[in-house]
Parts: sequence; C-alpha cells; structure tokens
Amino acid sequence: MKTDSNHQNGKLTGIEMLEYYEKGPWPSHVNEMKKTAYPLEVYASGLETRASPWFGGSAKVRYVYVGFIARRSKDGKNTELHFRVFQPSGQIYRTETLRKLLDFSDKYGLGLLQVMGQTGGLIISIDPEKADEAVDALRSLGTDIGDTGDTFRDFASCIGPALCEYSLFNTLEARDYYLSYPPIYEKISNQLFPFKVKLKFSGCPMDCSRAVHRADFGFIGTWEGAPEVDQALLKDKDKSGQISMEDLARNCPSSSINVSVSGDLSIDPEKCEKSMNCIKRAFPAIKPGKTRKIAFMAGGNIKGRFGPKMAKPVALLDDYKQAEVFITSVIDRWEENYPHKDRIGDMLAKEGFSRVVEALKETLPVAPNGKPSGQTRIIDSAVLSDEERDLYATWSRKIMDEYRGA
Ligand code: SF4
Repeated sequence: MKTDSNHQNGKLTGIEMLEYYEKGPWPSHVNEMKKTAYPLEVYASGLETRASPWFGGSAKVRYVYVGFIARRSKDGKNTELHFRVFQPSGQIYRTETLRKLLDFSDKYGLGLLQVMGQTGGLIISIDPEKADEAVDALRSLGTDIGDTGDTFRDFASCIGPALCEYSLFNTLEARDYYLSYPPIYEKISNQLFPFKVKLKFSGCPMDCSRAVHRADFGFIGTWEGAPEVDQALLKDKDKSGQISMEDLARNCPSSSINVSVSGDLSIDPEKCEKSMNCIKRAFPAIKPGKTRKIAFMAGGNIKGRFGPKMAKPVALLDDYKQAEVFITSVIDRWEENYPHKDRIGDMLAKEGFSRVVEALKETLPVAPNGKPSGQTRIIDSAVLSDEERDLYATWSRKIMDEYRGA
C-alpha cells in the first residue's frame, strides 16, 4: 500500500499516525472520535507498539449476562464498558431509529456509535454507574443488548431482496424469523453453550454474509438445474461488446457452457455448480433458474478449537423454516456433550459430519446431503494441517510487511 515515505518506513509515532488518518477527502474516524472524550492516546499507543493496548476487564450489569464488553488499558489509566446492540436485518436503519440510538449514546456513553459489521452495533463507552439504567433505556428503544459470549450471536443477513437483484429468497425475513424462533430466543441472553453460535443468510451463492465460512448454520439462496438464458438479449449484449459469449464459456469454473455454431449459448444443468460467474457478467440475459431452493449448510467457523472450517451442505430446502428442528437438535447434542471452546464445526469434525446428519435426518423434510453450490467443492469442513497453517501465516506476514514497508 502506498502512503507517504515516513509511513512506509514505519517511523511515525502513534499520534502522528492518528494525524495521518485525519487527512484525505473521506470522513475520518479520528476526527469523529476527537469530538468526544474517547481516549485517543490509548488507540495511538496501540498503533505505535503494533499490539493491542487493551486487556480484558470485567463488569457487572444487573440481569444481563451477555452484550457488554469490558476492558482496561495496559497502562491501567483507562477502563471502558461497551454495549453491543442487536441490529435490524440487513443493517437498514430509519434515520429516526439512528437518532434515538445517538441520543442514547449521548446520554449514557460518549456520543459514539459504530453500526457496521456483522457483530451488532456498538455503543462505545457506557458510563458504568448508569449501565443498569442504560439496559432498560435501550430495551425501550426496541432493541437489546447481546451478541457476546457463549450464546447465539447477532445473526447476519445480506441486504437481500431489499436492494439486490440477485436475491433468491428473503434473507431479511429469514433472519428475523430465526432471531425470534422461541427455542432460540429464550437462550439468546444466557451463556449456556460451549462456545458461540452464528446463523447467516445469503440470498445467492455469492454469499455476501459469508455464511459458508463464518456460520455454524448458513442459508444460501440457489436454484435447481441450469441458469435461464435469454438468447436474443445475450446476443445483443455480445454484439454491443458488453460481454463475450466465448469469455463466458472460457471462464465458467465447471466448464458447463457451450456456444453452438448458430451462436446460441447453452448451460449443462448437470455440470453447473452455481458459481454465479456468467450471471453476474451477463445479467439479466442470464438469470438464476426458476426452481428456487435454499442450500442449508452447517459447521463453518473461523475461530474454533480445531481451526477454521468451511461449512458443509446438509440439504436443499424449499423454505428456510424447514431447518429449525435440525438446528435445535444439533445444538442440544453439542450443548450436552462438548467441552468449552468446541464449536459446532468441531463436533461435526469429531463425530463425523455425515453420522450426525444421518442421526438427525428425521428432523429434515428432505433427504440430507443435497448439492447446494459450487462453493462447497473448494474445501469441505477441513481442518488446516500444520503445513497449511505455516503457509497461511507466511503469506499474511508478507502482506503486513508490505503494508508497513518493512
Ligand atoms: S449474497 Fe447475493 S443476494 Fe445477497 S447481497 Fe450478495 S449478491 Fe445480493
């Protein structure tokens, strides 16, 4: 990354780095933080030492076991108590709701709010003296504190049909449904599990919510058979230079596309792995097929006892609700039998994915082990070997060295 020469040489002090982040035409997080009592010097010291300036801390909030993050600076001079707050599906806020949250943050915190990301909104630095009162005030705004600890985390959905033309099912509604599904909802504020549980919902195989990589249970919109092709529209696009049919065929990861001598493009329904490659290039001349399905996946995680894993396909569903009993059955089995810090993916790896699915197949409306998406062929629920771990560590170190100009 090119910055300025000092920055490339890594010679800036922490405070100078903060000044650097105030430059440029974009809104600066440092400018925003400077307007409040946020302890920027702690942030600066972390930048300078290239290590977190924070230790974990502790706090007690009446009747609440999850949703707050307590920490103290390593020099012992600062303590913080943040509230994580459930977000609306797709992170779509009315301005009125945002204003209420900002008023809340002004009254109980520093007037700082962080609303991006899939881990819930964050109200930064609540006054610990007012924390009990703040929980009640937050609930009166129609949201709640949550999303930390060994429990259900805030579920994430892609923006889905609210904004995206590719969405094959209503990811926003599905997320709301599972958040309020009674066997899930009643456990959402308690730390009863060996580790955290995440559900994610993506409208199509492009998987913007990263359900394959980061969800214990993932739902991904897909379809059966080949994508639909509008030959006339596709030929127009090809003629006008917007796309090249030959390129579409060449770049299809499963080599499913054929262009005939008459210039028609066909896609082999048996071979198509739903990569979305041709669809995103040629939409709407190529669209997902009409028989919509939902690929239901299980066992993905980044943090787990046995390392990162990709989720594996469980079944092709007609409706996202069809997985509810399977999910709660897997969780019951995991909760009763597994030690602290084992994720659901760890359980599936230890017991055998297909043995667990086979044991619980009565809870599914269709035969398990569908063929949801091309993504799953990359690496199925694999635990990294030591060699792969070294390779990954070397690669990420190289990127960081390049960034720091070392
Ligand atoms: S996952 Fe698919 S449907 Fe959802 S936002 Fe991304 S491209 Fe759109």
